[in-house]
Amino acid sequence: MATIDNLPPLRAVIAEHGLSAKKQLGQNFLLDLNLTARIARSAGDLTGCDVLEVGPGPGGLTRGLLAEGARRVVAVEKDDRCLPALAEIAAAYPGRLEVLSGDALALPLADHLIGPVKIVANLPYNVGTELLIRWLTPPSWPPFWQSLTLMFQREVAERIVAQPRTDHYGRLALLAQWRADAKIVLSLPPEAFVPAPKVHSAVVHLKALAEPRYPADAAILSRITAQAFNQRRKMLRSSLKGQFPDLEDRLLASGIQPTQRAEEVSLEQFCALARAVAQG
Ligand code: SAM
Repeated sequence: MATIDNLPPLRAVIAEHGLSAKKQLGQNFLLDLNLTARIARSAGDLTGCDVLEVGPGPGGLTRGLLAEGARRVVAVEKDDRCLPALAEIAAAYPGRLEVLSGDALALPLADHLIGPVKIVANLPYNVGTELLIRWLTPPSWPPFWQSLTLMFQREVAERIVAQPRTDHYGRLALLAQWRADAKIVLSLPPEAFVPAPKVHSAVVHLKALAEPRYPADAAILSRITAQAFNQRRKMLRSSLKGQFPDLEDRLLASGIQPTQRAEEVSLEQFCALARAVAQG
């Protein structure tokens, strides 16, 4: 039976279990265990936490999370070919790794976790963005997780942490920064993965705030920012025209000039506008 000390190198695991990368599952594996340990560490102290890992693949990051002291890792993987390799890791860490087979977008993941919960994943990029938006928009706040440490393509990572008046600033930055502290903690070149993707990647760490940074109704904020960024370079008096009565007065009351464009307006100002609109 495999123990921590004699778990095989990841290249051998991939060869033994025939884990040739499938493009449609976004499989770009991390095989350097020093690197996966660094990613695990960027999630902060894992001791005493349940860690949800989405898309463990052959288990490089899973090993990092367990070695860094996670109380328990719950790993959900869509590709059944990976299950025997993950079972070897589970045997080396008795009682600390639960593997769920299936689609992370379809399974009730929170039901398998006991708090405090941290989420860590190197995911296909499209699934990652969808899950991030879901995790940031639960029915109530605070959410079931304390922090998210997620790999994204570099450009998406920059959209998450972007500030006003920059090219990447938009709805994703507002959504993420409204309810979390978000920062890029690691940048990775394509060669860090096997096979190498076409683009650079980055790990983003998001720490959930106890409550949203500024008060606002989530649905109204979402509606206003969708409308404003739909035409990001138009003045707000034109992009928000017809959305609610007394537009210019409400903009001014929120500290926003009607001639400003969405990309120049801060999160604090958008939240003030959402409150002004909520007044009816
Ligand atoms: N974590 C591993 C690593 O770092 O080497 C694998 C990363 S690879 C980029 C993405 C993994 O997510 C693959 O193992 C893939 O099979 C899995 N995956 C893809 N879509 C998924 C989904 N909807 N739910 C769960 N796992 C998924």
